[in-house]
Amino acid sequence: MNDERKIDEFGREIRKCAYCGDEFVATHKLRQFCPEKFGRTDYCKYKQKALIAESHLVQEPLNMIKGGLIPYTKQESPLDKNIRILDKIMNGSSSKLILPNELSFYGYDIYEFNERHKISDNEQYLIKVGDYRMKLQAENKLLITKG
Ligand SMILES: [Zn+2]
Repeated sequence: MNDERKIDEFGREIRKCAYCGDEFVATHKLRQFCPEKFGRTDYCKYKQKALIAESHLVQEPLNMIKGGLIPYTKQESPLDKNIRILDKIMNGSSSKLILPNELSFYGYDIYEFNERHKISDNEQYLIKVGDYRMKLQAENKLLITKG
């Protein structure tokens, strides 16, 4: 158990600061942080508060990334966007059969590719986008392969 209480020679409780981990003498029951550090009163308390505020600022963009969105407005070329969408759809697989509307769902731009080769007379194309190859299969399914 980590619950063992340390007491100083005056009977005051010695606690570990919730921010920096240093030990301090608890001058009242609710104190969780060093009363003073680097000559500044409640330094650790304010640092911890700032940390929590910061983590909230970070959390929202992280949720967006998990949802497949890029939160910042960095310029991304339409081709890079297509590759990112394919990365997301493929999720590490080397081959996957999807419905084309899955691409449009993510905002894929079918006019952005590296190469396009006609592979049959009935308007069938092999499309290269980054490391991916795409080919329309029977039943309007799109075969995506990597490498
Ligand atoms: Zn501290």
